[in-house]
Amino acid sequence: MADAGLRGRGGGWFPVARKWQAVRAEAADPYRASRLPPVVVANGAESEPGSVKDQHLMRHRPADVLAGLALAARAVGATEAIVFLKGSFEREAAALEAARRQAPLDGLSLTIRRGENSYVAGEETAILEVLEGRRAWPRPKPPLPYASGLEGRPTLVQNVETLARVPAAVAEPERYKAAETTLVTVWGHVRRPGVHEVTLGTPLRGIVDDCAGGATDGLGWLFPAGPSAAPLRGADADTPLDPDALRAAGSALGTASLLVVGASACPLSLAASLAAFFEREACGQCPPCTMGTANLSRILQAVEAGTARAADLGHLAEAAGFMSDHGYCAHSRTAAASVTGLLRRCSEDVQAHLGGRGCPRPAAPVDPFAPGSPERAAIELPA
Ligand code: SF4
Repeated sequence: MADAGLRGRGGGWFPVARKWQAVRAEAADPYRASRLPPVVVANGAESEPGSVKDQHLMRHRPADVLAGLALAARAVGATEAIVFLKGSFEREAAALEAARRQAPLDGLSLTIRRGENSYVAGEETAILEVLEGRRAWPRPKPPLPYASGLEGRPTLVQNVETLARVPAAVAEPERYKAAETTLVTVWGHVRRPGVHEVTLGTPLRGIVDDCAGGATDGLGWLFPAGPSAAPLRGADADTPLDPDALRAAGSALGTASLLVVGASACPLSLAASLAAFFEREACGQCPPCTMGTANLSRILQAVEAGTARAADLGHLAEAAGFMSDHGYCAHSRTAAASVTGLLRRCSEDVQAHLGGRGCPRPAAPVDPFAPGSPERAAIELPA
C-alpha cells in the first residue's frame, strides 16, 4: 500500500498506508489501555452536498468495497468490520448485502448499519458515537480513532471509495500509482451533471467540458470540494484536479464534489449560500462554531441584501479568525476558510454591495448548497 501511494478519498487525502500502520501498531502495543481487538469501520455516510460518488460506487461496485474492506481488516489484524451508511441509503445497504452473500470475507465478521442523514453525522468520530448508541456529535481530539475509537478499540475508519481502490493498489502498486484515478461528482451549471472516474492531474476545465458537456453559463466559479474549501474563479480552470495542486491554489479537492457556478451568478449570493449551509449543519456542541457560523450567515445575508456596512466585514473577519482555532471537528474552521476565501476572490463585488447599493447584477441569486436547490436536485440519485 505504501508503494501504491493510495490516499484516502473521504476528503483529507491522508496516506492509507500510514493510517493502517498506526492502527496496527496501536493494536500490537502491549501497554495500551484497552485489550479489545482492532476494528474497521467503512464510512459510507456520504453527506457532502452534491457528492454522490460513494452512493454510485456502493450501488454499482459493492463487491469492490467489500474486497477492499477485507484486505484492510487483514492488514490491521481486525476480524470485525462495520459498514456505516447514511440513514436514507436503503438501496446501498441492499446492494452491499447482496454482495456480501457472495464475497469471500475470510472469516471477517461484517455488519451493515445505517445512521442519520445530517452532514456532521458523516464525520468519523460522530459515526463512532452513533455506533455506541449516542447522538451524532463529533468527539474532541485527541484521541484519534486509530488509538481509541469504537469502544476504545484501535479503529480504522476508511471511506468506501478508498476501500474499493485497495484491491487494485495492492495487486499492482507501481501500475496503480502511475495512472491513479478518482471519482468526481460534477454538478451545478453544467449540461450533464454526473459521476466520472478521472485521472488525477486532469485540468478542471477538461472535466467540465469532456465529462459534463460544458458549462451552461460560462465558468464563473469552481468549487472542487463542494462547500468544504474556497472556490477557484473560472479563470483558474486550468488548475489540475489534484489534492496538492488545489491546495497550492488556495482551495482543496476534498471529496471531489465539483460544483460549477455560471458567470452571471452573484458571488455574494454564493457566499450567503455557503454560510447558511455551515450554520444549518453545525451540530451545536461548540459555541464558537454555533455562534460563529450564525454570525457569518447573518452578515453575509446583509451584504447580499445591500444593508451591510464596511464595519460588518471587520466583524466577519474577527468571527472567522476565532472559528479557525476552535471546534471539536473541522466544521468551524472549514466554514471560516471557505467563506473568507470566496470573499477574498470577489472583493470588488463585496464593495459594490456595500452602503445600501445592493446587488448590481441582473441575474437572480443562487443558493446551490440549500437542500432541494435545483443544482442539488439535478445530481441526486433516485431513492
Ligand atoms: S465544530 Fe461545529 S459541527 Fe463540529 S462538533 Fe463543534 S459545533 Fe459540532
